[in-house]
Amino acid sequence: MAGSDSSVLVIGGGPAGLRAAEVACSAGANVILCEGKRSVGRKFLVAGRGGLNLTHSESVENFPERYGSEPERWRDLLREFSPEDLREWAAGLGVETYVGTSGRVFPRGQKAAGLLRAWVRALRSAGVEFRTGVRLSGVVPEAGAWRAEFVKEGEATVVTARAVVLALGGASWPETGSDGTWPALLAAHGVEVTLWAPANCGWEVDWPAPFLACAEGMPLKNLLVSAGGESISGELLITRYGLEGGAIYRLGRILRAMDHPEILLDLKPQLSVEALRDRLAKRSTTLGWSSALNLS
Ligand SMILES: Cc1cc2nc3c(=O)[nH]c(=O)nc-3n(C[C@H](O)[C@H](O)[C@H](O)COP(=O)(O)OP(=O)(O)OC[C@H]3O[C@@H](n4cnc5c(N)ncnc54)[C@H](O)[C@@H]3O)c2cc1C
Repeated sequence: MAGSDSSVLVIGGGPAGLRAAEVACSAGANVILCEGKRSVGRKFLVAGRGGLNLTHSESVENFPERYGSEPERWRDLLREFSPEDLREWAAGLGVETYVGTSGRVFPRGQKAAGLLRAWVRALRSAGVEFRTGVRLSGVVPEAGAWRAEFVKEGEATVVTARAVVLALGGASWPETGSDGTWPALLAAHGVEVTLWAPANCGWEVDWPAPFLACAEGMPLKNLLVSAGGESISGELLITRYGLEGGAIYRLGRILRAMDHPEILLDLKPQLSVEALRDRLAKRSTTLGWSSALNLS
């Protein structure tokens, strides 16, 4: 690939990069999108495995607080592109969405592949040029533009552009291409980068073997998880190493800020202690504990 001039160079082909390319292209820029892997959107496809949660159907007024900090900034951004705009955007690509029982919004069929295919097709026909298998190794200013240096199959290659958008992803699931090594490229320019912090993390528990033998893989529904004075109702999954699920992910920010993180699970928040005791007394002689509690 010889060095070439382009108005906007987007580096990273995850949803952030695809969206940046889309916006720049619709504003009339010539856009090249470079991706280190042989295909774009690999983490997006992983995200779709368990059902791609696109947004939530609750009032947009509640959204800014969900992001934790800078609610005003989020309010402005959401005014530009609301959850409803997101659903219309997907519909424009031919992918209808629906609201699940939890209020979360999914594409029909739940998976990401159809949406990704339609998105890439639309970008190509709008004129975005895709270059895959090119890994960014450095970016330097050069004569009023930017010179981005890549490695493709062991060979150095260069793209110059008036503007460069870095959309290089986080540090989880490095096999998808987002290995979190890019902050070093920015540090070379004296740009300060906030250190990585885990976002959606499970909770490790050293379960006793007899418990695991009957409970591994069991979903726990409609429970209440509390930490640091906040309670979230939702679902968790019992895994070999602990607990996973939305209810705990939403407490991540609070748990990270605690010196000694602690969670409290209420498996039956809708029952009083007396009602629970009654139910167990009546049923536990004939049923296993999970059936007696009707947990899943
Ligand atoms: C198991 C799982 C489930 C998830 N479920 C959901 C969900 O239901 N809903 C939801 O909204 N989100 C979900 N997510 C999160 C979602 O996948 C990410 O938030 C999203 O992919 C981030 O998009 P991004 O474009 O910022 O980064 P990424 O998708 O990580 O894309 C970054 C791209 O940059 C490329 N890149 C990195 N470094 C270089 C380099 N040096 N040179 C060239 N290219 C480079 C990478 O190859 C990658 O393609 C889930 C994630 C996981 C792991």
